[in-house]
Amino acid sequence: MATAPAADQRRLLDVQDADLRAQQLRHRRETLPEHAQLEELAARAADLHEERVARGAEVGDLKRAVTKAEDDVQSVRTRAERDSARLNAGQGSAKDLQALQSELEVLARRQSDLEDVEIEAMERLEGAEGTLASATEQADAITSQIAEVEAARDAALKEIDADLAKVHDERAAAADGIDAALLALYDKLREQHGGVGAAALQGSTCLGCHMTLNAGDLAAIRAAGPDTVTRCEECGRILVRNA
Ligand SMILES: [Zn+2]
Repeated sequence: MATAPAADQRRLLDVQDADLRAQQLRHRRETLPEHAQLEELAARAADLHEERVARGAEVGDLKRAVTKAEDDVQSVRTRAERDSARLNAGQGSAKDLQALQSELEVLARRQSDLEDVEIEAMERLEGAEGTLASATEQADAITSQIAEVEAARDAALKEIDADLAKVHDERAAAADGIDAALLALYDKLREQHGGVGAAALQGSTCLGCHMTLNAGDLAAIRAAGPDTVTRCEECGRILVRNA
């Protein structure tokens, strides 16, 4: 069995304590609620961006449709004005004037239909512009929400990192001068056993796995010399005995 000074074995528990606190801080760092909030906000921002691109294109199409409808109405109106002027001048045969009269009637109906098209296009444009404005407003709100959550996240990270630096120093101080082989064994076991490589023996219970040791194992551990590095038979962790 490996040996290491009993005092070093007991100091291992301080190292273990610092390592666990560091592990908790790293876990807190990774699971800050702001991370999930930012992910959700980014997804909503991406959806809104798509919405704005689509609505922007729709507004462009509808603006062109309104312009075209206006032009169509204007050209019918121009032609009707020209026909009216000719009719009012009374020039030409009765048959010509009759033809002008019927063309004016056709043009009036055509103008009315085109004006309906123009009004409909304008209404649709207004609706699309409204939707675009609302999406833009929502996107602006999300942008400022993102900035707020980022600031909260950064503040939390700063605090955690300061705590981590402190724990790191405490760990270094606790580990300073501990038997190198013992520390290496502890680190290896810590890696294998979810962050806990050394545990105290409390009565007949290993505080690493919380199992009660059987009488035979317990007797062997108690009989071992103080510098003998004893291990829990159940979990394999270094079992640190009281002085
Ligand atoms: Zn154990």
